[in-house]
Amino acid sequence: MTSTLLRGRTLSFLRWPETVDDHSAWRYEDDGGLLLRNGRIVAAGAYADVEKKADEGAKKIDHRPHLLLPGFIDPHAHFPQMQVIASYGAELLDWLNAYTFPEETKFQNAQHGRRIARLFLDEVVRHGTTTVAAYCSVHRESAEAFFAESHDRNMLNIAGKVMMDRNAPEGVLDTPQSAYDDSKALIAEWHGKGRQHYAITPRFAITSSPEQLEMASALCREHPDLHMQTHLSENHAEIAFTLQLYPKASDYTDVYEHYGLLGRKSLFGHCIHLSEREADALSDTGSVAVFCPTSNLFLGSGLFDYQRYRRREKPLRIATATDVGGGTNYSMLRTMDEGYKVIALNGEKLNPFQSFWQLTRGNAEALSIVERVGTLDQGSDADIVVLDACATPAMRLRMETADTLAEELFLLQTLGDDRAVREVYVAGRAAKPDMAA
Ligand SMILES: [Zn+2]
Repeated sequence: MTSTLLRGRTLSFLRWPETVDDHSAWRYEDDGGLLLRNGRIVAAGAYADVEKKADEGAKKIDHRPHLLLPGFIDPHAHFPQMQVIASYGAELLDWLNAYTFPEETKFQNAQHGRRIARLFLDEVVRHGTTTVAAYCSVHRESAEAFFAESHDRNMLNIAGKVMMDRNAPEGVLDTPQSAYDDSKALIAEWHGKGRQHYAITPRFAITSSPEQLEMASALCREHPDLHMQTHLSENHAEIAFTLQLYPKASDYTDVYEHYGLLGRKSLFGHCIHLSEREADALSDTGSVAVFCPTSNLFLGSGLFDYQRYRRREKPLRIATATDVGGGTNYSMLRTMDEGYKVIALNGEKLNPFQSFWQLTRGNAEALSIVERVGTLDQGSDADIVVLDACATPAMRLRMETADTLAEELFLLQTLGDDRAVREVYVAGRAAKPDMAA
């Protein structure tokens, strides 16, 4: 097996950076090297040292002066919503009814699902994202399509067929039993196949009956190693409707708690309007709150209080995601730019090292996959993004006055998008698609 030797400025995080001067939180090499073999990083460090470990025939790729980081991780997105993104003028529940549910009915057609899965993964990789936790549609075919496409590309992705049996049109409904059976079949076929991970995916409490949440609960008990993903506390009308549907629940979080759906591999999209009790319950169980800034702004859902959740006595584990198509951009750079502004509206800041920690190691830790991705450590999977902070004339001009790595990162976050992504490696293979593709 041939190996590949990458050269460039490498940046990878060891832990949360407290400040921009917290140098021991990351590893940065001005002239760094990464030796890739069999889809893994087998050596990392100063180029001169790594080069010595390369075999004779290693393919050398010089990315200087660009930055090499772990591929970005998007912990919450809906692949069937590529033709829903940029739909005008509604809040969450109307937006689902007017745009999303009708669109998702198309995914009973396997060919349509395969086409959109292909275009979706092209799009995320083009933007430097190498792992996504994706919601499919209710149809088993949509998850088949997503996993087949993901497996063909050898991507580490997490996905699941959405479970939903009420409060939506006929074409996107399953039943408690069919949701259980289809999920079981998909788990058997795809979980652990190559780099694929299955996530048990009840869409949210409004579209799942108590009987269906009971089935989701059974799936979680039968497969404790799997992820569970759903939505929680995104919008006031959603919260009110949920409590009407589950009158015995003390609050929205209690609905999921009652069915045993909280835990370290449980991913809760949004979590904007949590009470202190709810935040405690998430914290006590190690559940993950997924911040989706572009979506929260676009749908007018509210401002996720990132720093308060992080600093409270019982802190939350936080991931940050696009939530395409409620989210308005596939780019994790654009997502963190909007995230920075949401945090600013809450009177706080997120420094650039914290942002890039979040996009890489932070999201990997939140998804419990940091053993495989999210760092450039030796032994990690070789999922890597190459970033160019001079990708556009405006960025190049601004870079003339940027002296530090912190400034460069902040510029990338504030002005960057897919144009700043020079190359992407998925399991060691160059994978950035052509714009024309
Ligand atoms: Zn979502």
